[in-house]
Amino acid sequence: MEIGGSTLVSYPAGEVRGRSAVVGAVPVGDRYGTIVAETPFHPLDHTWPDQPADEGTIGGLAVVDCVTGAVEEGGETVHLGADIPVRRGTPGWNWLVVHVTDGPVPGREVELAVDEARRRALSAGHTACHLTALALNAALAGRWRKEIPADGLGHPDFDQTAITSSRILPDGSRDVYRLGKSLRRKGFTVEGFAEDLPEIAQRVNDRLKEWIAADAPVWIDSPGSELTARRTWHCGLPEGEVAIPCGGTHLSSTSRLGSVTATLELSGDGSELTMHTTVG
Ligand SMILES: [Zn+2]
Repeated sequence: MEIGGSTLVSYPAGEVRGRSAVVGAVPVGDRYGTIVAETPFHPLDHTWPDQPADEGTIGGLAVVDCVTGAVEEGGETVHLGADIPVRRGTPGWNWLVVHVTDGPVPGREVELAVDEARRRALSAGHTACHLTALALNAALAGRWRKEIPADGLGHPDFDQTAITSSRILPDGSRDVYRLGKSLRRKGFTVEGFAEDLPEIAQRVNDRLKEWIAADAPVWIDSPGSELTARRTWHCGLPEGEVAIPCGGTHLSSTSRLGSVTATLELSGDGSELTMHTTVG
């Protein structure tokens, strides 16, 4: 099969529709995987699977899943999802969006349409996820006794230092942080954390309210259109502009979120913090 390069993606600009040439087909279990030259579909990322795949239609057929594929340049085998043997964006590989359907997709050129309501809910969840991470960093800034890398607002980056998993949900997200020995060694104070939790959550939610009221613009910077181009999320917050590496989709301003609520939950042994973020 001659794929001829990485899939070009239009979802970073907010696109939900497209028309494109079919450039390849691969079996996905007993289903059908279709690769096109350019797509508005966001696939699940195999390295950091935070935002779920888009749903919608390709050539009139329901897209039941959308996964990342990778084929080595000059190679034949398209590896899928967790079976990809290299990290996202490794040079020398073509990176593909694979649209999965129950039947074969007819035609050499197809219409692509993403389920807009689901996309909007996932974009809202993802924008809220980045904002709560920044608000959490600010609320925990006083707990650091040593210097660690700062986020875009100058606060110690608790989120990037302690995160173990992040899942974007429709109109929400769930982030899990490890409060173990290694975090304490880096200078994070865990003493009194459980008692302070309600106040920390209050500080996070107060800041979110301010940022939503400020109607701060949100945009994605893309150095290229390929699936694995290193894109960054930007937000012009009142305190300054922040940038976070991000491969997902977003709303265009903080006010579009309406309202966001974060709740914090500590595991029984105090070693794990879960932040649940809800939009609306
Ligand atoms: Zn992101």
